[in-house]
Amino acid sequence: AKHAGRNNYQFYTAEMHERACEVLSIENSLRHALERGEFLIHYQPQVDARTRQMVALEALIRWQHPVWGLVSPDQFISIAEESGQIREIGDWVLKEVLAQIRAWRAAGLPAVPVAVNLSLAQFRQNSLCDQLIDSLAASGVEPAMLELELTESIAMEDISFTVDSMDRMRALGIRFAIDDFGTGYSSLSHLKRFRADKIKIDQSFVRNLSIDNDDRAIVMAIINLAHNLGSRVVAEGVETPEQLEFLCANGCDEVQGYYFQRPVEAEKVALLFGRNFT
Ligand code: C2E
Ligand code: CA
Ligand code: CA
Ligand code: CA
Repeated sequence: AKHAGRNNYQFYTAEMHERACEVLSIENSLRHALERGEFLIHYQPQVDARTRQMVALEALIRWQHPVWGLVSPDQFISIAEESGQIREIGDWVLKEVLAQIRAWRAAGLPAVPVAVNLSLAQFRQNSLCDQLIDSLAASGVEPAMLELELTESIAMEDISFTVDSMDRMRALGIRFAIDDFGTGYSSLSHLKRFRADKIKIDQSFVRNLSIDNDDRAIVMAIINLAHNLGSRVVAEGVETPEQLEFLCANGCDEVQGYYFQRPVEAEKVALLFGRNFT
């Protein structure tokens, strides 16, 4: 038993060492990623459950590393958050999305709002609101075309700060969505104060909808809650017709997921306008 314990311990440290090296090497590579133009954005449609038309897009960052290939945000966003690099990356995402909205408009495409994910550090920046005013003015994009997604846990971390910031940005015309809803520890009385335009049901509740009665009950409760607070509800991670059917039958407003469309590069978005997502 002593032996096994010791081996376990050694295995554990070796793994931890490996992980620490990996984190360092990602952090180092991130330093050059922006100037080398290695980031790109993919867009995924949000589909109106009734009309089956695309009503919004979510911007999702990707990192095209010269050696590692396409790196997903789950592998580098939290590292960038720890190192402080997330601010610069977040600024880049906002500018890039606004430029893209303008380019789509110039190409004569219909306007749909684009949702951008905010990190904690980005949201906490005191300058974020001023920066948004400047970037929106410089791009000539109407504020209503920009939607900011804040996870439930980020929003709940400092409630009065969140309410103040959201109120100031809402006054500019920017929209808000509460992301990954159901995974944090929401106080419902605080949720009300956010007055979010949208509440996004976390995909972990959508995944097993066709087999898990608890998840069905949770999803129905979130839909009712959101509607009672005057918010629209979006279900993410929709992959099957069974999930879609349940969500539609229970009044979910918008759906997003691989069943309709995986995230795609900006050039392919033109093909999604006017398409019927059945
Ligand atoms: P998220 O905001 O919850 O985004 C949804 C994730 O689910 C995306 O992963 C999306 O590609 C994926 N997804 C969409 N439909 C389906 C589906 O039907 N099934 C499954 N299994 N997955 C689906 P992605 O693009 O890898 O992004 C992961 C996370 O990284 C995002 O989760 C978000 O928290 C973060 N992220 C992405 N872009 C940005 C960004 O620009 N800034 C910040 N701060 N975070 C970002
Ligand atoms: Ca999101
Ligand atoms: Ca989410
Ligand atoms: Ca997530």
